[in-house]
Amino acid sequence: MQPLERLIRELILAEGPMRIDRYMGLCLGHPQYGYYITRDPLGEKGDFVTAPEVSQVFGELIGVWAVGAWAAMGQPAALNLVELGPGRGTLMADILRTVRKAAPAFAAASSVHFVETSPALRAKQRAAVGEGATWHSRLEEVPEGPMVLVANEFFDAIPIRQFERRQAEWRERVIGVEDDRLAIGLGAPVPGAEGRDGDVVEFAPARSEIARGLGERLSRSPGAALIIDYGHLVSAPGDTLQAMRGHAFVPVTENPGDCDLTSHVDFEALAKALEAGGAVPHPAITQRAFLLAMGLEPRFQQLSARADSATQGVLQRQMARLADEGQMGKLFKVLAATSPGLATPYPFGRS
Ligand code: SAH
Repeated sequence: MQPLERLIRELILAEGPMRIDRYMGLCLGHPQYGYYITRDPLGEKGDFVTAPEVSQVFGELIGVWAVGAWAAMGQPAALNLVELGPGRGTLMADILRTVRKAAPAFAAASSVHFVETSPALRAKQRAAVGEGATWHSRLEEVPEGPMVLVANEFFDAIPIRQFERRQAEWRERVIGVEDDRLAIGLGAPVPGAEGRDGDVVEFAPARSEIARGLGERLSRSPGAALIIDYGHLVSAPGDTLQAMRGHAFVPVTENPGDCDLTSHVDFEALAKALEAGGAVPHPAITQRAFLLAMGLEPRFQQLSARADSATQGVLQRQMARLADEGQMGKLFKVLAATSPGLATPYPFGRS
């Protein structure tokens, strides 16, 4: 048995069944054995592939968006370019390469700030963007001032709580030990709204807390944030907790700390938390709609025009992976939030 599973079992024996948010927090972020702390999980050889790892075009288009957001703020001469959960640093490297070429004044104004808890991934980020960046463990540590912030597949990794409706009562889903294995069980009844038997609802207080803090920051200093993740536009019941290993789904109670453990992001709840902090959220759109509006197709055509035919095939597949509805195009959503008083950033608020 892996040390993290032993530790979780000991905690359960000592304190009783464990809430899902605590389990997720330990699996992903335990200071010694946590999934993100001990490894780089990204890429074809890892457990999952993210959009920046699919194609450089993803980061290029976000770089273009960031320049537009900075222009809408009146081109402040000093800007914090912030990323939450930067993974390998690929997205930021692609943004920086693009803005150095296309918008040198933006590049000159920008200081890069990464919010990252994993030492393993901080090292990758340093290798990708160089020594010029600054690292923080929490958004609160980033200096105040004008800001453009991006977060791709960050919020899905922030722990959630789950409640299940059984015999007309809500009970919290918890992790216990059953037949000498970790298993999901139910806690004591708690008050809650009506629901149907078998419904599972998810709450992400930790996620809302971060979004609220971001909203407060946007209410104090001019800024814009772009949040991209898999999830749903409208809050609805559903069990979306998932574990992934080697690009396949696995049971969430197996091999804790050795699998990516995430849930779908409730963009309605996220927007409400940003608003509660004082920012203006702009209704989320699909990744497909966002990327097409930002010029995905012409950029791929441009790359294709100077590629051999084998590479053209690769480019075609990359574009499809990012934007096709059966791939990342529809499941992934993009939400923008800005300081009050700033114009709605393109391409939001168009429908
Ligand atoms: N944005 C990257 C990586 C996504 S994986 C990409 O698109 O490829 C999730 C990232 O969030 C990892 O870098 C992980 O270490 C980081 N992370 C997870 N929980 C975090 C937390 N509580 N605080 C800061 N970073 C966190």
